[in-house]
Amino acid sequence: MVTTLPGADELAATARETAKRCGVDVDALGGGVTTTSPINGGPLSAVDRVDPGAVDTAVERARQAFLAWRTVPAPARGALVKRLGELLAAHKADLATLISLEVGKITSEALGEVQEMIDICDYAVGLSRQLYGRTISSERPGHRLMETWHPLGVVGVISAFNFPAAVWSWNTAIALVCGDPVVWKPSELAPLTALACAALLDRAAAEHGAPAYLSQVLVGGPEVGEALVDHPGVALVSATGSTRMGRAVGPRVAARFGRSLLELGGNNAAVVCPSANLGLATRGIVFSAAGTAGQRCTTMRRVIVHADVADALVERLTDAYARLPIGNPMAPGTLVGPLVNGRAHAAMRAALEAAVEQGGTLVAGGGRRLADQAPDAYYAEPALVRIGEQTPIVAQETFAPILYVMPYDTLEQAIALNNAVPQGLSSSIFTRDQAEAELFVSAEGSDCGIVNVNIGTSGAEIGGAFGGEKETGGGRESGSDAWRGYMRRATNTINYSGELPLAQGVEFTV
Ligand code: NAD
Repeated sequence: MVTTLPGADELAATARETAKRCGVDVDALGGGVTTTSPINGGPLSAVDRVDPGAVDTAVERARQAFLAWRTVPAPARGALVKRLGELLAAHKADLATLISLEVGKITSEALGEVQEMIDICDYAVGLSRQLYGRTISSERPGHRLMETWHPLGVVGVISAFNFPAAVWSWNTAIALVCGDPVVWKPSELAPLTALACAALLDRAAAEHGAPAYLSQVLVGGPEVGEALVDHPGVALVSATGSTRMGRAVGPRVAARFGRSLLELGGNNAAVVCPSANLGLATRGIVFSAAGTAGQRCTTMRRVIVHADVADALVERLTDAYARLPIGNPMAPGTLVGPLVNGRAHAAMRAALEAAVEQGGTLVAGGGRRLADQAPDAYYAEPALVRIGEQTPIVAQETFAPILYVMPYDTLEQAIALNNAVPQGLSSSIFTRDQAEAELFVSAEGSDCGIVNVNIGTSGAEIGGAFGGEKETGGGRESGSDAWRGYMRRATNTINYSGELPLAQGVEFTV
C-alpha cells in the first residue's frame, strides 16, 4: 500500500477548523506547549497548560456546582446527558478527526470511539431513572431497612492518550446522572480532543440551564494529575493509564481516604484450542493484536495455542500480517496507523530484542515503514514472535503491536499461563468444545475482569462493567452497576412501631 502522508500545515489547519466547529475558542488556546501529530510527526497545535495551582480553584468551583446539582432530580440530570449525546452524534466526524490527528487512530476506530461515547450517554439517560436501592427485611417488628444512593461529590478524571475522549465520557455521563461534577485532566498528548469534548458539554449545560462548572478540563502534565489526586475535595479519582501511574496514584488517594477507580495496563491473552475455528480465531486475533497499532489496554499481546494447531495458526497469522495495510490512519483502507511517538517505537524495538534474547523467533513484521517520508512519525509493522515459554518480556505490557505465540498441551496449563502475569484485564478462548469454554469462564478459569469466548480480547461494549484485576487496578467503569462507584450508599432503618426494640435482642432500658 502506497501512502503519502499529509504535511504539517494541512494537519494543523484541519485540527484548528475542526476544533472550532466543536465550539473551541481556537484564538484563546495560547502559545503554550506544542503537540505533534503521530501521522507525520510534525507540530499540530500549541495549547497553554495550567499549573497545579489551578486544581484548587477548579475543585472549589466544582464543589459549588455539586451543591446545586445534587438536588436536581436524577431524570432531569439525565436530560443534560441526553443533549450531550445528541451533540456528540452531530459532531461525531469532527471528534473522530481530532482523535486521528492527535493520537493516530484509523478513521473507523476513531468513529467507533465516538460511537462509544454516544452509547454511554444513552445508557446513562436510562440509568438516570434506575438508580435503585434495596429494601431489606428488618429483624424488628414495625421497622423497615432500606438503602438510598446519594451523589458522591467531585469526580477527578485522569485519562490516557489511547482513548482520549471515550474514557472521559464513560466517567462523565455516569457521574453527571449520579449528581457529581467532573474535573478532567486529559492526556497531555490530546488537548484539542479534550477541549472539543468540553466545549460540547458546555453547550449542552448552557442550553439545559445546568450550574456552571459541572465539567471542567485542566490541560496539563502529570503534576496537574498529582494535584487532583491529593486534593481532599475530590471524592473519587478515576485514573486510566499505565500501571506505573496507578502505583503512584492509588496509595496517595488511599492516604487521604479518598475513593479511587483504577484502570491500568493489560497483558491480554487468547487461548486457541484444537477444536477452534481457525479462520474465526485468526480474524479475532489480528483485530485485537494489530488494531489500534497495538495501543489498546485490551490489545491481545499473547496467544496460547495448543501444540497440535500451533503451526497452522501461525501460518494463517503470518499470512494476515503480511497483508495488513499500514499507513496514514485517515486514508481509506488503512488498518494500522502510527505509534503515538518515538518513545513507543523505542519500547517496541527494545521488547523485540529482549524477546529474541529470551529465545523467541520473530516470524512476521517488526520493521518500520514510511521513515523516509516522515522521520519523526513511527509506523511499525505489527510483529509476531514465536516463543517456547512465558519469559519476563512476555509477562510485561509493551504498549505496541507485538504478539507472542506460545504452545500448550493441556487446558489447565493454558489457563495457568493466561493467569501467570501481573496484569488481569482481558482474556479469551477460541474453542467449539463447550466444556473447555465453561472451564475458562469458571472460577478455576481466567482470572481477568473480561473473559470472552470466540471473540478477541478488545472491543468491549459499554453495557458491561469494564476493568480488570491485579495490576490492572481492580476498577470497574461504564455499564452494569459501575455507577455505584460514583455514589454514596446510606443504609436507613425506619421505625414506625412506637416501640424501641433493639437489634440482636439487646436490652437497654433505664
Ligand atoms: P500514562 O500512565 O503515561 O498517562 C496516563 C495519564 O496519567 C496522563 O493523563 C498522565 O498525565 C497522567 N499521569 C501520569 N503520571 C501521573 C501521576 N503520577 N499522577 C497523576 N497523573 C499522572 O499512560 P498513557 O501512555 O497515556 O496510556 C497508556 C497506558 O494506559 C497503557 O498502560 C494502557 O494499558 C493504559 N490504559 C488502560 C486502560 C484501562 O481501562 N485499563 C484504558 C486505556 C489505557
